[in-house]
Amino acid sequence: MCRDFDIKTAFKSGKTLRSHLTKVKDTTPITTESSIVYSIPCSCGKVYIGETTRRLEQRVKEHQDACNRGDGKVSAIAEHWQQHHPIKWEEVRVVDRASKNRELKIKEALHIQMTPDNKFNRDIGLELPGCWLSMLCANHPPVSVPSRNLAVYFVLLYHQGEF
Ligand SMILES: [Zn+2]
Repeated sequence: MCRDFDIKTAFKSGKTLRSHLTKVKDTTPITTESSIVYSIPCSCGKVYIGETTRRLEQRVKEHQDACNRGDGKVSAIAEHWQQHHPIKWEEVRVVDRASKNRELKIKEALHIQMTPDNKFNRDIGLELPGCWLSMLCANHPPVSVPSRNLAVYFVLLYHQGEF
């Protein structure tokens, strides 16, 4: 199926790529954003990547509560924290946005799977076609997260049943 990959199919609807990109309001505080992929770094240099349809501050608080309870079962962050790794809560970042839940899951998986060794996620998220990652790696060998535009192409193709 990758052999037949044709980027033009992403534009069947007649919309431009730009019209599919999330419009980000600069005035929105990062912690109140929802439907996002986020990253939480540890002082050891590794990072946790997750997604939430709720506000980021709410999701971060759940991770913090799990740490305080010592509940490594519900949170990979709490499990990592229990191994005496100070989490850098002040450096939590939004790394991507999506308007649909399926798109959010795909983008989370892309970000996790494009961050090869320096993460402490317990799983890789949604299973993606292997050729997506090889194409992303072929286009952007040194980067740790996928090109936003390329990720959007894949999301659109996925929605259109190209994979
Ligand atoms: Zn760590």
